[in-house]
Amino acid sequence: MKLLTDLTFDNRFARLGDSFSTEVNPEPISDPKLVVASLGAATLLDLDPKELDNPLFTEIFAGHKLWSEAEPRAMVYSGHQFGGYTPRLGDGRGLLLGEVLNDSGEHWDLHLKGAGPTPYSRMADGRAVLRSSIREFLASEHLHALGIATSRALCVTSSSTPVWREKRENAAMLLRLARSHVRFGSFEYFYYTKQHELLKQLVDHVLDAHYSECRSEPEPYLAMFKTIIERNAEMIAHWQAYGFCHGVMNTDNMSILGITFDYGPYAFLDDFDARHICNHSDDTGRYSFSNQVPIAQWNLAALGQALTPLVSVDQLRESLELFLPLYEAHYLDLMRKRLGLLTADENDGDRIRTLLQLMQSSAIDYTRFFRELGDSTAEAACARLREDFTDLAGFDAWSADYIARSQLEGDSQEQRRTRMHAANPKYILRNYLAQEAIEAAEAGDYAPVRELHEVLSKPFDEQPDKERYAQRPPDWGKHLEISCSS
Ligand code: AMP
Ligand code: MG
Repeated sequence: MKLLTDLTFDNRFARLGDSFSTEVNPEPISDPKLVVASLGAATLLDLDPKELDNPLFTEIFAGHKLWSEAEPRAMVYSGHQFGGYTPRLGDGRGLLLGEVLNDSGEHWDLHLKGAGPTPYSRMADGRAVLRSSIREFLASEHLHALGIATSRALCVTSSSTPVWREKRENAAMLLRLARSHVRFGSFEYFYYTKQHELLKQLVDHVLDAHYSECRSEPEPYLAMFKTIIERNAEMIAHWQAYGFCHGVMNTDNMSILGITFDYGPYAFLDDFDARHICNHSDDTGRYSFSNQVPIAQWNLAALGQALTPLVSVDQLRESLELFLPLYEAHYLDLMRKRLGLLTADENDGDRIRTLLQLMQSSAIDYTRFFRELGDSTAEAACARLREDFTDLAGFDAWSADYIARSQLEGDSQEQRRTRMHAANPKYILRNYLAQEAIEAAEAGDYAPVRELHEVLSKPFDEQPDKERYAQRPPDWGKHLEISCSS
């Protein structure tokens, strides 16, 4: 267990030099307060939990103090935003403070979001507001607890520094942890500016730091691209299986590690709706829930394009064909687990599609359905759940087949429940829950966001005194409009 002052830095990305990032110091926010911190994330840095209460912790993560070994830098990137190419983006309000090397030999990027203007801020203020920082914090730690690959979040600090969005708000900072902050857009930047030597340097860096197993392959760059495709297929399968809608799948928000990254107007589905658009600014539904699968492949193609100076176009194209079958396999696997099915049957894909159509037409709560399905035997659970469906004939046909299929698995109800509850969260980060916690935090009460974080960090556990967090949204919380404003 380490003190804050004992962390070891090894800033590999900074050493790549000024073509990849620019030195910028954080600009502190006034009267900083610690809103919420994650013990789980602190463990990644071997940080003693007591350090979270150390005033130095808040000072550092509100930009007032910095380790002498840190080398804060704003990274350059570009990217396709809503399908159109923006030639230069970059860290406009976040800084890579440095890379902490932990006792397990892992490097963790410390990225302070909301740290003030940088050369990439364009006309904006370099700040982040409290509500978006809390939303990213809650989601990062919750997705991790759900078993979904994601960047992590160590803490949120709030301040009295004013920022102007649709109204006056207070500036906040989020400390994000990830093994890397390189995005698809980082490669696109060097490709489209025709700096192919630098592109190769970046690819070599990522290969050595994060995909070293690909070095021994006959074609390391191609092997890395295939591995990235595999990881994306697995990540998107998790999103679709757990009802997570990212909202802004621009290529600058796609991590090169295949982890969920850059949380904006995301949502978990309440009622199942394949067409759900969680980003109020997404007029055409480019990033709707069901579009996430083809968009992920589109984004991988954009990355492939950026790699054409290093890998043959035919090989890149062929690799892209791997995405859908890999996605399908992961998705089926996850959905079988959610349905409590141990064995695979060739009709499972149809079974799942039929169920989702029924859930959609009857507006069934996506999280509660699967949890309840495991509560009692398949027969008893279906008899109870039937009450919620409007297409009774449709549900009866589906459930008769499902009950028969479940009986073939041959384990006891006790085993089935344990298995299913380990795959089906009781608690999910519903927009309305985040909203309640945000409103309290904006009024200076941080207890609700801390409690929500606690509950959501054990989403599969029964937490008897926390039942209220497992409820469907009240009317006011059903159609909250979350935009890109952050
Ligand atoms: P995002 O929508 O958060 O993924 O950001 C897209 C781009 O806009 C990135 O280059 C960000 O750094 C930049 N950006 C977003 N908000 C701000 C802000 N308040 N100040 C400066 N840059 C920003
Ligand atoms: Mg972004």
